[in-house]
Amino acid sequence: QAKADKSGAVRFYDPGMSRRIAQRRSLEDDLRHALASNQFQLHYQPIIDLASKDVIGFEALLRWDHPARGMVAPQDFISIAEEIGLIVPIGAWVLQQACHQAMLWPDPMKIAVNLSPAQFRDSGLFETVIRALASSQLPPQRLELEITESVMLLDSATNLRTLHQLRALGVQISLDDFGTGFSSLSYLRTFPLTKIKIDRSFIRDLGKNPGCLAIVRAILRLACDLGMRTTAEGIETDSQLETLRFEGCSEGQGYLFGRPVPADQTTLFLAGQRSDAPALQAAAEIAA
Ligand code: C2E
Ligand code: MG
Ligand code: MG
Ligand code: MG
Repeated sequence: QAKADKSGAVRFYDPGMSRRIAQRRSLEDDLRHALASNQFQLHYQPIIDLASKDVIGFEALLRWDHPARGMVAPQDFISIAEEIGLIVPIGAWVLQQACHQAMLWPDPMKIAVNLSPAQFRDSGLFETVIRALASSQLPPQRLELEITESVMLLDSATNLRTLHQLRALGVQISLDDFGTGFSSLSYLRTFPLTKIKIDRSFIRDLGKNPGCLAIVRAILRLACDLGMRTTAEGIETDSQLETLRFEGCSEGQGYLFGRPVPADQTTLFLAGQRSDAPALQAAAEIAA
């Protein structure tokens, strides 16, 4: 951006901008070494059946433990990894790691894994999923792949074919962050989805904004009529939980039940199952 200083000369040079470019370059360089240096970890957030309050699975959430910067949040590095083509190998690692971890949990327990649209642009996605399932021996029905609306919008014919192949294996497909993208409702019947995840923004304002309740009701009704399950994201309060149960949402996720935790702490959630609800609470408090 051009700026005029006191002398009237126009400067095209913005030191803030060059610092940002340098920072971004160094983050890119670090990212290229992160996988080989074992700097990635998965954290797992419980997914709850709202009727029984049982944990029915976990969502795997990627964490980058940077040697100098500490924990880098996914929103600060995933888009970079997508741009420089690293999300494909990173995504393959996530799938392997998540499927092996899920094998350590009791049988029907599911694992949800986020997929980037860039992983669909790579022709090896289907094989990558097969390899993760084969090497872990995880039954395909226990794997849920989370896609976003952009996967349905871009290259939709190719992506549709890949999703059908995955469904044919028995893998579940969830539509993440629903309501925030630009896709048309007709995609909901075209794509082989098994679940809709209602974006956190609608849950957050549920008690404050009657419009949010109307939208949530409409999504729940639509999902139900299309034979899909529903997960509400970002449940933080009892009143949000009660509203969602009353409205017939099948599953929920959020800090009210538990934050994402490292793999070794997931057993704390499972220990509290059914017989001992307070243990779930205790695990959530440890994690918070
Ligand atoms: P997402 O898939 O929608 O995941 C939910 C995000 O909401 C997570 O953020 C989670 O920590 C956060 N969250 C859950 N419950 C609550 C709550 O009650 N309140 C609030 N305020 N937040 C809550 P996180 O872990 O920072 O991940 C952000 C996004 O990064 C994810 O959104 C997903 O789109 C992406 N992501 C994470 N892991 C992966 C991965 O392995 N691969 C890809 N491609 N994307 C990933
Ligand atoms: Mg997700
Ligand atoms: Mg989400
Ligand atoms: Mg979200």
